[in-house]
Amino acid sequence: MSLILEKLNLAGVPDERPLVISGPCSAETEEQVINTAKQLSAAGIKVFRAGVWKPRTKPGGFEGNGQKALEWMQHAKAETGMLTSTEVATPEHVEAALKSGIDLLWVGARTTANPFAVQSLADCLKGVDVPVLIKNPVNPDLELWIGALMRMNQAGIKRLGAIHRGFSSVDQKLYRNAPMWHIPIELKRRYPNLPIIFDPSHTGGRRDLIAPLCQQAMDLGFEGVIVESHCNPDEAWSDASQQVLPEVLAFILDKLVVRSNNEMTESLASLRHQIDEMDEQLIVLLTKRMRVSREIAEYKKIHNMAVVQTARYSEILDKRGVQGSMSGMSPEFIKKVFEAIHEESVRQQIEVINK
Ligand code: PEP
Ligand code: MN
Repeated sequence: MSLILEKLNLAGVPDERPLVISGPCSAETEEQVINTAKQLSAAGIKVFRAGVWKPRTKPGGFEGNGQKALEWMQHAKAETGMLTSTEVATPEHVEAALKSGIDLLWVGARTTANPFAVQSLADCLKGVDVPVLIKNPVNPDLELWIGALMRMNQAGIKRLGAIHRGFSSVDQKLYRNAPMWHIPIELKRRYPNLPIIFDPSHTGGRRDLIAPLCQQAMDLGFEGVIVESHCNPDEAWSDASQQVLPEVLAFILDKLVVRSNNEMTESLASLRHQIDEMDEQLIVLLTKRMRVSREIAEYKKIHNMAVVQTARYSEILDKRGVQGSMSGMSPEFIKKVFEAIHEESVRQQIEVINK
């Protein structure tokens, strides 16, 4: 199903890549909002973000300053001329944000996962011309993400975009939320005119990942980035480990290589990223395999068994040889791969046994 889209058309913001949105995870105090906005504005950033209502995992945490924070955003806008943006999760948030002149709204990952909530926001936005960005749902479900975009679009929101902020995953350690690039790439393939903004802060969860992740997003042809920044990141009331100083963001943006966004570059880059992702998965799998192999070594040690059991080794080569050739790979190639894996496995087992 198609989406009827118009450009985001943000007043005073040049229509070029990357669109940069930045500001603190949460609006904590008036001073923090104004200081951060001023520093960002000095660094050339045109769109300010801050969380006014914060979805927290457990009750009792800092849940945002609500109405007061909206007023601080108005002051920041008056002082710097930046546009303002915030997350809305209920119709009351939408009404309050629009009344305070917030220029751009986004729907958070937890809200996108709930069609009832998205529909109530869409209903409340009927007839309003405001740009809306939809974060991906926390779970890796592209259809649910598209569903939320459709609900907004059917309510008449045409200045629409997506934010990719990674997905919850039990099986990853490097990232706070696994990027699973193939999902936003598929979204782009289906809706080439839908701007996709990348959120390296919630994807990476760590300051040192902001620069490489921003570069990856640019290489994939994303339209922009939304990055959390704070005038005193270590003291932030939420997401301290992922926020950067405005001047650090300026440095990161200065180093960013923004290549032309033509079809060829994009599809080649996207294919390369798929390869990178699979290579990463191969390493994760090999690591798991070696861990099990080391456990086997402990068993062999206790039972005084030889490390190399030739019958088992032949069985592995035979089984995988057949599977490999049925999948269109040459038996010689499969043999080479499994001999190399076996060799490393034996090396690790000997290490365990001699410990
Ligand atoms: C945020 O942007 O501050 C936020 C809460 O993000 P997400 O919805 O991606 O978790
Ligand atoms: Mn945050």
